[in-house]
Amino acid sequence: MKRNWINPDVLVIGAGMAGLSAARSLASLGVQVLLLESQKRVGGRVHTLRAKGEIIELGAEFIHGLPPELVALVREAGLELMERSGATMHSHDGALIVDDDTDDQKGPFDLLEQLKEFRGGDLSFAEFLDVNQVPLDERSAVIGFVEGFNAADQHVISARALGLQQKAEQETEGDRSFHVLGGYDQLPDYLARQLEELGGQVRLDTRVDRIEWQPNRVVLQTNQGTFTASKVVITLPLGVLQSGRVEFHPKLPQAVSDVLARRGPVRSGKAVRFTLIFREPFWQTLSPQPEMGELSFLINGEAVPPVWWTSLPEKSNALTGWIGGPRAERFAGWSAEALAELGCDTLAGTFHLESTRIRSMLIGCYTHDWSADPHAQGAYSYIAKGGLEAPGVLSQPVADTLYFAGEHTATDGHWGTVHAALASGLRAAGQISASMSDRANTNPATAR
Ligand SMILES: Cc1cc2nc3c(=O)[nH]c(=O)nc-3n(C[C@H](O)[C@H](O)[C@H](O)COP(=O)(O)OP(=O)(O)OC[C@H]3O[C@@H](n4cnc5c(N)ncnc54)[C@H](O)[C@@H]3O)c2cc1C
Repeated sequence: MKRNWINPDVLVIGAGMAGLSAARSLASLGVQVLLLESQKRVGGRVHTLRAKGEIIELGAEFIHGLPPELVALVREAGLELMERSGATMHSHDGALIVDDDTDDQKGPFDLLEQLKEFRGGDLSFAEFLDVNQVPLDERSAVIGFVEGFNAADQHVISARALGLQQKAEQETEGDRSFHVLGGYDQLPDYLARQLEELGGQVRLDTRVDRIEWQPNRVVLQTNQGTFTASKVVITLPLGVLQSGRVEFHPKLPQAVSDVLARRGPVRSGKAVRFTLIFREPFWQTLSPQPEMGELSFLINGEAVPPVWWTSLPEKSNALTGWIGGPRAERFAGWSAEALAELGCDTLAGTFHLESTRIRSMLIGCYTHDWSADPHAQGAYSYIAKGGLEAPGVLSQPVADTLYFAGEHTATDGHWGTVHAALASGLRAAGQISASMSDRANTNPATAR
């Protein structure tokens, strides 16, 4: 039965995967929940576009390994996972070389394995390379990987956090990757439908500007009026929290605001991704064969973008370019047209084709500027040197009233991912339900 909650028990801010999973979980326990979202759509940094006959992910695309909560949700929603396959190629000295796990590329990546055993005082990844006297010629591939994958700066990102991430990924078969067949946005859409079926409500286009709080009471000031409840789940992205656009009154406890400082222990990473759509998948006929026919990833650390991928094993005419970490800063604010020019020039150099020929086959370029987006203000988070304990601070409720969730609150090494966001929402819902049942037990008058 659908009800209109004028005074919900719990307010949730943000309809990304964290907010939706928290709200759905609470609604399934019979809690009256109202979710407020500033945009006109749900999904947050899961943002799928359909154009030119293609499914284009502007935000998250890959499911790294088989994280149990996410896999369970995909199954529950009746969706299908498609495992990525195909060849990884490197462009080196003008030649395209097929990646082989037994070749020298393995050397640098052994370093990431060593991080799992890293003990002692924390170091940045750059310092870790120095301390371990990694030869300069072995560094660029692994730095490119760490910065690209984590949208992070090698001089800032924590070596201990990278070690924990490696372990976490190993536990969930993180060397395999998947995507949701038919588009990632089907998951947040499913959660939003479920939430409403369970009697919860989503209010789109409702931007929270101010959070007034005291133990067991919150008042949210928004562009659509004021909302009150006894508890709130705050899934605002780290970049939004750091910007100070949303005011807290009274101010957050010092330990929490220290974690949310702009140059604090958890950083908002930078990434630029753009998808080029061509008339046909022209690269599939280039040499060497058969590998180019089944190209999955193409890596050229010297070029920009340094990483490209196809949609294999799905048929598609798209190539997606990725720039992560400090290199991405230069391209923030670039239009789709400018990125398309850059991409065609880079592909021309890599494939030894005329740039004009590549441009003549291009029919579209799609991108989203996550750093400039006021609803995100960054791509995804990473842990700075010495900051490994910081997400733990965010994962603890404040005065049993403010519950932070979102990818940046993960404590298990999975930060920066959709599955971390999903798990954090479930964690916050569990904390609230435990707190509500404690209160009901100690004060039966509050029980419903
Ligand atoms: C380019 C890119 C590629 C990525 N690739 C991958 C990938 O391949 N695999 C992977 O696992 N992860 C990937 N990620 C990360 C992943 O998208 C995020 O970790 C995850 O979606 C975050 O979910 P969330 O719920 O924590 O935050 P969000 O999805 O950002 O949700 C927060 C919500 O809060 C809303 N909001 C903001 N301000 C306000 C306000 N004032 N009032 C009300 N609502 C507000 C926002 O509109 C948003 O809907 C990628 C991210 C980006 C940007």
